[in-house]
Amino acid sequence: MKTCSKCHDAKPLACFGLQSTSACGRRAACRLCEAERMRGYRASGAGVNAKGTGGLSHREIARRLGMSKSRIQQLEASAMRKLRAALAEGWR
Ligand SMILES: [Zn+2]
Repeated sequence: MKTCSKCHDAKPLACFGLQSTSACGRRAACRLCEAERMRGYRASGAGVNAKGTGGLSHREIARRLGMSKSRIQQLEASAMRKLRAALAEGWR
C-alpha cells in the first residue's frame, strides 16, 4: 500500500503510475489524481504549448536538436525565469 500525495488515500501500488526516477518506482499521486491533474493542465491551456514554440512540440524540438525533452524543458524554464527577472527590473 502507498499513500497518495494528493488525496491522502492509502491505495495498492497498482493504483500508482510507474515513474522510474522516483525512489519507490511509482508516482507520488495515484492514477486518479494524476488524471485529474492532467485534465486541469490541459483545460488551463498550459499543455497547449505548440504556439509558444513556433508550432513545435517539446518532443519535436528535442528530436531536431538531438537533446532530451527534459533538457529542452529545462532550457525553456530557465529562459522564462530570466525573462521574468528582466521584466521585474523594468526591462522592455
Ligand atoms: Zn490520489
